[in-house]
Amino acid sequence: MPVTASSKSYRVGRSKTGLGLFATMPIKKGTRIIRYFGPILDCRIPAQDDIENKYLFELNGRWTIDGSVRKNLARYINHSCRPNAESDVRPRERKVFIRAIKNIEPGDEINYDYGTDYFKAYLKPIGCKCASCENKRKKQRAEARAERAKVKARAERKAQKAGAKSANKGAKKQKLNGKHFNGKAGRAKA
Ligand SMILES: [Zn+2]
Repeated sequence: MPVTASSKSYRVGRSKTGLGLFATMPIKKGTRIIRYFGPILDCRIPAQDDIENKYLFELNGRWTIDGSVRKNLARYINHSCRPNAESDVRPRERKVFIRAIKNIEPGDEINYDYGTDYFKAYLKPIGCKCASCENKRKKQRAEARAERAKVKARAERKAQKAGAKSANKGAKKQKLNGKHFNGKAGRAKA
């Protein structure tokens, strides 16, 4: 029997992108946290196949859970590319459980990976807002900033050198270019 977390181990709270589900007590890796549930839709029935909302959870080619019902608190769980939980999909039982894949601390937001299809359709166009992607973007911005600073410093050095050269007007023409001045010239001579 899998260990199931008590319903008091989580709460709905404010996350960066709206609402989210947060741990209120430690949840051990491997624990079933919550069931993702709602009416089961059969795609062979046109009226059911027509239902469209962002809480549909596909079990397989035929069956889909409509998780938009209010009691389904699992619908508040946000996507993450580096999640602390996963969806345990049981098509035969037509059930989905969200299970911890890491030890989760009180206050942590619970996340799982919504999968490639969802990511491509909904997240890629607007940019994924999960912590992992935000960090990646932050790092890329920092790297771009460092690169710009480097280019600027190089340009300033060049300008300084040009200034020095023009101040040297009339002096003997220097045969050496800048490269020979940074220490490696000595070794080349030896
Ligand atoms: Zn992401």
